[in-house]
Amino acid sequence: MKKLDVAIAGGGVIGGSIALELARAGLRVGVFDRQHPGQEESWASAGIISQAPENPGQIATVELAKRSGALYPEFVAQVEEISGKRTGYRAKGTLQALFLRDAKAELSTMIAVYHGLGLKAEPLRADDARELEPALSEEIEAAVLRPDEASVDNRALTAAVLEAAQRSGAELFPGSAVKGIWREGNTCRGVLLQNEKVEAKWTVIAAGCFSGAIEGVAAYAPVKPAKGQMASLRADDLTIERVLWSEKIYLVPRNDGRILAGATLEYAGFDKRVTAGGIEKILSAAIELAPGLKNARIEETWAGLRPDSQDHLPILGPTDVEGLLIATGHFRSGILLMPITARLIREWITEKRVTADWDRFSPLRFQNEATRTATK
Ligand SMILES: Cc1cc2nc3c(=O)[nH]c(=O)nc-3n(C[C@H](O)[C@H](O)[C@H](O)COP(=O)(O)OP(=O)(O)OC[C@H]3O[C@@H](n4cnc5c(N)ncnc54)[C@H](O)[C@@H]3O)c2cc1C
Repeated sequence: MKKLDVAIAGGGVIGGSIALELARAGLRVGVFDRQHPGQEESWASAGIISQAPENPGQIATVELAKRSGALYPEFVAQVEEISGKRTGYRAKGTLQALFLRDAKAELSTMIAVYHGLGLKAEPLRADDARELEPALSEEIEAAVLRPDEASVDNRALTAAVLEAAQRSGAELFPGSAVKGIWREGNTCRGVLLQNEKVEAKWTVIAAGCFSGAIEGVAAYAPVKPAKGQMASLRADDLTIERVLWSEKIYLVPRNDGRILAGATLEYAGFDKRVTAGGIEKILSAAIELAPGLKNARIEETWAGLRPDSQDHLPILGPTDVEGLLIATGHFRSGILLMPITARLIREWITEKRVTADWDRFSPLRFQNEATRTATK
């Protein structure tokens, strides 16, 4: 029987980064993935590192997001050095374009909200925005520049994180689906594979939107898949420096000249098929934001499944089963929240305390909710 300090279920960017942190802290770590690691959502993502909340519900994550964004440059430098691979990190800021008639009023509200949250944001007139990003439509009314935001090539990042974790001593076990946790009384003694038990002092569930299907975990990680479709474009006569947003879409430039356009948000179960309607929606919004894209070539389309929780917030931290931790539910922000997730899980395992207030994200909050509903 394998004996580890930490068994991690799921080798996406979250499981991989936790493995890296823990292996570097000297622990024996195994990452079990039911397929080749890094081929699910971390592969499908857009890789935007944006601390600005997309809606009021996301304000709860801003403090985590700010810490994670601040950790990024150092994290990426370390991963690149250890793995010998590039991650395509681009710290060039993001620019949100407004098409609204009442853009001025909207703009001052947005700036006030961002500043209130301690985020850097500058209002721009349409002309000034187009001077920075000439590809932007003539129809935009104003824009917000968020200079501290960034992007990363999530596929390259995931591969580099997994390589760095291995080079730091973590073992990867591809094709090893975790069926359930190995629970004895109130203690998690490790994980159950198809025909094997793996003993571990700590078990971390980081299986993205599949986490809830692992036996013994559903109550702590009730996540459902939220499908996102994306397209990769290449345009010969158009360049984009920063991530661009409109109310409908984002465009993410990569170092190799590709421009990613995304993404839909659909609740369609575990269906990852790309649809004509989804791609039509993305492409028309992309051309509205940057009209020159109408001549761009479509290089690739794909879809991925985000792990969404009832309150759309991450699920992070220990459970009431000794030794069992959860790190999932990152929904639209798993790339952004990767460094802080890995840091906090490592702190808890090695020091039994964390340097952030993560109670809000506790895996126990769903049980509390269930208990409250049952006793009403
Ligand atoms: C279209 C799209 C765009 C996105 N854009 C952004 C963005 O711009 N910025 C951002 O921050 N976030 C974005 N996200 C979200 C982000 O990609 C995710 O939050 C993040 O990748 C989650 O990583 P993960 O490691 O938790 O999950 P995954 O990458 O899905 O990894 C989970 C792993 O667990 C494995 N697994 C599943 N079941 C089992 C099992 N039973 N046993 C063992 N292994 C198992 C899977 O094979 C997989 O490798 C986007 C997501 C999508 C779909």
